[in-house]
Amino acid sequence: MSETFTIAHARSWIDGFASRCDEQKAYLTELDSAIGDADHGANMARGMGAVRGALSADEPQALDALFKAVGMTLVSSVGGASGPLYGTFFLRVGMTSGAVDSLDGAGLSASLHAGVKGIVDRGKAEAEDKTMFDAMAPALDALDATLAEGGDLAAAASAAAEAAAAGRDATEPLQARKGRASYLGERSIGHIDPGAASTALLFDALAEALS
Ligand code: ADP
Ligand code: MG
Repeated sequence: MSETFTIAHARSWIDGFASRCDEQKAYLTELDSAIGDADHGANMARGMGAVRGALSADEPQALDALFKAVGMTLVSSVGGASGPLYGTFFLRVGMTSGAVDSLDGAGLSASLHAGVKGIVDRGKAEAEDKTMFDAMAPALDALDATLAEGGDLAAAASAAAEAAAAGRDATEPLQARKGRASYLGERSIGHIDPGAASTALLFDALAEALS
């Protein structure tokens, strides 16, 4: 049972996300080749690989410093839309976490909400625009609902991962209204959004880190 989200959980989350981006690089690229420019897998694998390097060179001891390092590395190493968007997510998660070495459920939820708000501030995505937001928003709803029912962090993260995967799948019938895929108009229908797929990996990694 996890009652707190610690630095060790955070490191394990980031490491697990990096592994998943690497393992699923071809899949993410295949999704992006259908409705984008076939670089999402390469972008995420390169960015998270650089994050791994940055975190092994310097071992931040507080959540704000750790997530700041993740966000800055993503912003500076990924050229595509996803670099600044995931970068802003982690920068805002860190700013809201603060200079602490652990968070309770409410604190983790607040930090993740701040991260998603950062993505929206930057990219202006709304529900059903067929972006990573369509996996993020239901994931946070599920996390909050599980915590409100008295579930622990492991249960909340597991529910979030399930909801993110469902959100990913629900992007398939949508027409893209943001990002590169929106240039395709109706031809974007019938394909899963690559960023929603990487966000499902993000929450899957969080669930494993807290399990
Ligand atoms: P690029 O589109 O520059 O090639 P990537 O392929 O790495 O960058 O990332 C594409 C993903 O970024 C999309 O699948 C989508 O989920 C996400 N995305 C693009 N624009 C936005 C936006 N304005 N808001 C939220 N997410 C976005
Ligand atoms: Mg792309």
